Amino acid sequence: MEKTFSPVVKTAQELLAFQLEGLKWSVTHAYNGSQHYRAKFDETGLKPADIKTLDDIQRLPFVSSKDLQEGYPFPLLSVPFKDIVRIHASSGTTGKRKILCYTAKDIDDWAEMFARCYAYADCTAEDRIQIAVGYGVWTAGWGFQNGCERFGAMAIPAGPGNLDMQCQFLEDFQTTVMCCTASMGLLMAEEIDKRGLRGKIALKKMIFGSERSSDAMRVRISELSGVAADQLFDIPGLTELYGPGTGLDCRHHQGIHYWADYYILEILDPETLKPVPPGEVGEMVVTTLRKEGAPLIRYRTRDLTRIITAPCPCGSVMPMHDRILGRSDDMFIFRAVNIYPSHIDQILSHIHGVGSEYQVILDRRENGKDSMLIKVERAMDVSPCHDDGPIRKAIEHDIKQQIMVSCDVEVVDYAALPRSERKTKRVFDNRD
Ligand code: ZN
Repeated sequence: MEKTFSPVVKTAQELLAFQLEGLKWSVTHAYNGSQHYRAKFDETGLKPADIKTLDDIQRLPFVSSKDLQEGYPFPLLSVPFKDIVRIHASSGTTGKRKILCYTAKDIDDWAEMFARCYAYADCTAEDRIQIAVGYGVWTAGWGFQNGCERFGAMAIPAGPGNLDMQCQFLEDFQTTVMCCTASMGLLMAEEIDKRGLRGKIALKKMIFGSERSSDAMRVRISELSGVAADQLFDIPGLTELYGPGTGLDCRHHQGIHYWADYYILEILDPETLKPVPPGEVGEMVVTTLRKEGAPLIRYRTRDLTRIITAPCPCGSVMPMHDRILGRSDDMFIFRAVNIYPSHIDQILSHIHGVGSEYQVILDRRENGKDSMLIKVERAMDVSPCHDDGPIRKAIEHDIKQQIMVSCDVEVVDYAALPRSERKTKRVFDNRD
């Protein structure tokens, strides 16, 4: 019988019991195996035996990228060195690289998780999977590769780039699944279209790692490549948490099912570090349940998302989170509301007639009240003589309704706001 890679736990209740056992194991393992964790726990006076319920997770101290840097080159190591069989590094853009150690069991667990991703994407052992992501010290190539072999499909370890070769492989090997970044997916789709390959290849799915695909991007990729829009999948991945393959949006695309039998996901207010109400945006904090080499206990990822509370039609017991909506470092507080630029971004993207560039300007009035002005560009094809009234009203209304704050809106000409190759500064806080 073909292996399904579905979780052992079948109900939400079983999942919670499983998580509690895993939490107890992880805390004990980290406390006994790592000086770093032991010192942190001792500071709070907490002993592993104090963890009796899942809510007790809130009594545990946090770890962050700072802990990974301080412990460089082998941070959070919780087993004897002889048990480590591999290391991986993140391509961190700031500071030192993050290095993570894996035991043989960690590698095995990761392959199981990734195989489940292929299963959730409805792949079969007949599939031929072209893996066009980086192989090396990064987790990407290894993750997709080990997962594919565990799943039992045929891997074509192509590596990234080289569009000529990729196209030739698609044609010669009759690849059915392509794994790459979303940007490369778009490039490939353009090549497929340009070279008239659609009738000659067998491509039916694409799985995007490391970078989320926008809705507009998916539509374009589907149109050009001929791959159905519901057969484009996103795999999130964090090197600290094994690498890619810790979840996947199933064919219903209602959210990303995450493998809650391998880690606990908390969504916390980045200011208070308390849980946000279900469905609200907050920072992802992860605690691993089985990881031996470098376990994570309440690791602050700084990534923002929210739990999807509605059940998925696929019936999976695995819960869902939304796509990554930004970074908690970008949050600002206005009239006691936590606001993320990405949320404003999202609201503006649904309003007809505005461009993608905007600025948020925060001021304090003489009466002590704070004000927020959103400057937004007209879309490229909208005439400067256009009456901006309806656009302004629509933005004010949607911000009020979705973020629960009032703002002023100014519509400026297309290309009036500065652009930058790097990250564009969008929030200007002139208060105090
Ligand atoms: Zn589903």
